[in-house]
Amino acid sequence: MKALKKTGLVFFPAFDWAIDPTHPEREERLLYTQDQVFEEGLLDIDGIIEYKPGMITDHEVGRTHFCLTKPKHVMTESHYISAGGAKTIARAFMEKEIDNGFALVRPPGHHAMRMVHGGRGFCNVNNEAIMIEILRSEYGVKRIAIVDTDCHHGDGTQDIFWHDPDVLFISLHQDGRTLYPGSGFTNEFGGPNAAGYTINIPLPPGTSEEGYLYTIQNCVLPILEDFKPEIIVNSAGQDNHYSDPITNMNFSAQGYAKLTTMLKPDIAVLEGGYSIEGALPYVNAGIILSMAGLDYSKVTEPGYDPERIKEDLRTLDAIKKTCDQVLQIWDMRDELKIKAYGEKPFYERSRSITYDTDGIWERQSEILRSCEECGGTFKIRSSSDRDYSMAGIHIPVGACDKCKEIGYSWYDAENGDGHNIVCLQDRPKDEFHKKKGNKK
Ligand SMILES: [Zn+2]
Ligand SMILES: [Zn+2]
Ligand SMILES: [Zn+2]
Repeated sequence: MKALKKTGLVFFPAFDWAIDPTHPEREERLLYTQDQVFEEGLLDIDGIIEYKPGMITDHEVGRTHFCLTKPKHVMTESHYISAGGAKTIARAFMEKEIDNGFALVRPPGHHAMRMVHGGRGFCNVNNEAIMIEILRSEYGVKRIAIVDTDCHHGDGTQDIFWHDPDVLFISLHQDGRTLYPGSGFTNEFGGPNAAGYTINIPLPPGTSEEGYLYTIQNCVLPILEDFKPEIIVNSAGQDNHYSDPITNMNFSAQGYAKLTTMLKPDIAVLEGGYSIEGALPYVNAGIILSMAGLDYSKVTEPGYDPERIKEDLRTLDAIKKTCDQVLQIWDMRDELKIKAYGEKPFYERSRSITYDTDGIWERQSEILRSCEECGGTFKIRSSSDRDYSMAGIHIPVGACDKCKEIGYSWYDAENGDGHNIVCLQDRPKDEFHKKKGNKK
């Protein structure tokens, strides 16, 4: 058998790392998939190529995250390799060794935000975001779309690209009123300089194939067609499956394979999915076959009965209403900044963030320069109940001269009052600067 599309795969089950041995996010998540892939002979197919995951460097982490107080404090070796697996696929894709690729790695990453004090929702650093910054820095890719199909809202990825009009983030997820992390509503559509470029599509519990694929067809694909990304990344979380123990959706392996055929991701990176035996091996096999352009019609999980998991009309109706609302927001994205945020030279916000995995509570205040020419320089001041504190300044990719100048003037003026460290991410120069604050 020969694949119609050359598809790269990376497996990294992280054998020696788990939050604890019985935690749903553990290495068996991928061991069953690996078995299935071997049993089905997927790796014997001409054109499906396995790669060994590389490792990311601290410099690559530093483009994306402000880690307290350095990457090693919040990452294990497994985190370096998991993100490294995404990097390996991204490089193989850019070097044209493959037509598309799927990084089957863990620990996952989409709940990790720009500032990192510890683990949130089983995530410490954001694999896709780190990979995207590699695509931008090393290969000059300009417009990227991320479609997050994990059942949970990709709040970390949203946070990292919140002010970035060049990275379109679309998240489909179970309604935040009914599931962790409790966010991802349609009115979260991006910061002032990137209003409209974050798209949240909350779906009711019980959403099955029809509703999910309706949303892809009628909402996600038209937006992607307008945005015209150079690369489509899929945060391929598999916890929408009807057998998943920690969510309430009714999606199937066939549904995931069809979704992949519709979306045509260039790069997929595994996120969640906790139905370790009943779903993951089948969902992953379906996605791999779909990416390779092969027949997946025979991939079915034991006990699959489409009639039993069909959504009712009320659910479908609610989904259609949400899609209409999302498309309206997208259509008015040019006027959205002034309508939602008003006209100001600087925008400020403060918020608190919980790290449920590590039990840390963080306070943040942020200031952003309003800019018509680029994503805008911003500064985050962050402190936690562990008594760590940091100021982080970010000069965005493609920054205008004024935003570059303001970034450095903020960095120079920041004397570290009350902070352990002060950092500057200079994305145009691809530099990371750091100085000690005066906090003991
Ligand atoms: Zn999601
Ligand atoms: Zn999830
Ligand atoms: Zn600017």
